[in-house]
Amino acid sequence: LPIPNLTLSDGKTIPQLGFGVFLVEPDEAERVVSEALEVGYRHIDTARVYKNEEGVGRAIAKSGIPREELFITTKLWNSDQGADTTPAALDASLERLGLDYVDLYLIHWPAPKYGKHVETWQAMVELRETGKARSVGVSNFLEKHLDDIAAVSDVSPVVNQIELHPAFQQRALRAHQEQWGIRTESWGPLGQGKYELAELPGLTDIAASHGKSVQQVAIRWHLQEGLIVFPKTTQRERMVENAAVFDFELSADEMATIAAADRDQRVGSHPDTTD
Ligand code: NAD
Repeated sequence: LPIPNLTLSDGKTIPQLGFGVFLVEPDEAERVVSEALEVGYRHIDTARVYKNEEGVGRAIAKSGIPREELFITTKLWNSDQGADTTPAALDASLERLGLDYVDLYLIHWPAPKYGKHVETWQAMVELRETGKARSVGVSNFLEKHLDDIAAVSDVSPVVNQIELHPAFQQRALRAHQEQWGIRTESWGPLGQGKYELAELPGLTDIAASHGKSVQQVAIRWHLQEGLIVFPKTTQRERMVENAAVFDFELSADEMATIAAADRDQRVGSHPDTTD
């Protein structure tokens, strides 16, 4: 697949289009990820809390794809936050994945209930030094959480992975992150199927004019916005469909139409109340 790489602030590169496995059942993960790798995806986004790291790891092992051609992300679960517990949590994830390192390790949520996101960030930076996580970042951080870590650490997260889709474009948070060169990863890039992309003004017409689905238009929009995106599906034909987004381009007018479709509609959990 002609998937571009983006450069992160630590100098590493990341495939801009990947494959997410949230809600992929543990006993289905190996099949799903094996098919995604066959289709040509090389960037897989999992998490401790998805309970499918073992299946992801088996698919990686069976694929025979050289490790350096893959980009694997996993995430620290909230109850594992803390200076003392973070290193062991990564070791346990690596064990389940059957890997020596992950390409990217993320703090999954700020989890204010624990009040540990700052010390956890410092532990993440130390993990990067060990090489067990090549890059480190955060997820679901609001402006204030990014400010908290910037106040104590001169290492910035390479990414913030946040809910982002055409109805929830997160322009303010994205602008705030830019001061530290933090790239944005879009989770729920298709709105998690919780609303119809087709109901947004202009989407259906744009899709028809390119002979593409509204999902393909949405994925193309993420790419042209400079976002990192990893839609999820368990169906092989949709894996192919979601990657067939490099043979058309949205015009400036079409990008503006989609920008205007933002309705500040969060469909997932709020970072202040997720722990
Ligand atoms: P998504 O926006 O990718 O939507 C997935 C839904 O869209 C599924 O129901 C699927 O059946 C449907 N779909 C996929 N391709 C389609 C197509 N071509 N046509 C029609 N329907 C299609 O939602 P997601 O899975 O929540 O987000 C993607 C990834 O982001 C996850 O798998 C996970 O890796 C990550 N994520 C991270 C967090 C976080 O807190 N950091 C939270 C949620 C998701």
